[in-house]
Amino acid sequence: MQTTLEPPPPPSGAPPPPAPRGLLAGRIVTGALVVSPLLALGVAVPLLWGHGVHLRDAILAVVLYAVSAVGVTVGYHRMLTHRSFRPNRALKITLAAAGSMALEGGAIGWVAAHRRHHRFSDAPGDPHSPQRYGEGAWSQVRGFGWAHVGWLFSADATSTRKYAPDLLRDRDLVTLDRLFPVVAIASLGIPFGIGWWLSGSWAGAVATLVWAGVLRMALLHHVTWSVNSVCHMFGRRRFDSTDHSTDFAPLALLSLGESWHNFHHAAPSSARHGVLPHQLDLAAELIRVFERWGWATHVRWPDAATIEAARLPAPKASIGKVSPVSSEARG
Ligand SMILES: [Zn+2]
Ligand SMILES: [Zn+2]
Repeated sequence: MQTTLEPPPPPSGAPPPPAPRGLLAGRIVTGALVVSPLLALGVAVPLLWGHGVHLRDAILAVVLYAVSAVGVTVGYHRMLTHRSFRPNRALKITLAAAGSMALEGGAIGWVAAHRRHHRFSDAPGDPHSPQRYGEGAWSQVRGFGWAHVGWLFSADATSTRKYAPDLLRDRDLVTLDRLFPVVAIASLGIPFGIGWWLSGSWAGAVATLVWAGVLRMALLHHVTWSVNSVCHMFGRRRFDSTDHSTDFAPLALLSLGESWHNFHHAAPSSARHGVLPHQLDLAAELIRVFERWGWATHVRWPDAATIEAARLPAPKASIGKVSPVSSEARG
């Protein structure tokens, strides 16, 4: 049976709901962030034709990618959305600020939308389910586009009061949310400034901005969006969740372990998403380091019983002889 997740039409004669304030401005900013990498490539290719990528730009791009990806994955997602561990104040602020550098919005709105995703996961109310239009081939194509980027332009804003009241009571996070535009500009301004400083030329500054600013941002955007789209459509289902979430190995490294999305939906508060021995989860390894240093406490490591209880029967899982017991569970 085909299902559709589109909201019901308003009753005939009823006035359309008013557009939220700032919706147009938000769409323009989002559109600029989505399209600007293409423009940046247009600048970068003529600039770099025959020169390759300068080593300083490549190193800075990797460093800033790692910082902002840790901010989103460990900070926004595992720390703030799911309370997978309790950070000290400095770690909380640092991770939330690093997440802001990804230019995926402020922490509180990000958390609210993601908690709503888990609340309704692939059912009506999910802000970015690829199953929104049904099961046919064209419906799935449309659903992919919606889950990947389309939903960002939706007028269906998620209430932070409803989904993130705990974060709204945290003065540090509210202040960081207000400072989001400053952090966002710094996220692009830092590579521009370093490029200018190291190269001593405007062309060098622009090249660093393109590679370590705009294209680094775009890559992480698409990795994050792929967790919403790809990891609810493609890959393997090894765990019993009530949605279409999957494990998608090719994105494990770039997503720092977020693409082990199937177990995450089966046990959302777990600090580790890649619970099988072959599943690389760099975010979990970093949380373990924070725990050892005493910066993170009350870490929710999944135990063997939880992992085993979530496993689908072997014929469906079809992954051969893989022990479900994680290092944490063994230890
Ligand atoms: Zn999901
Ligand atoms: Zn989650």
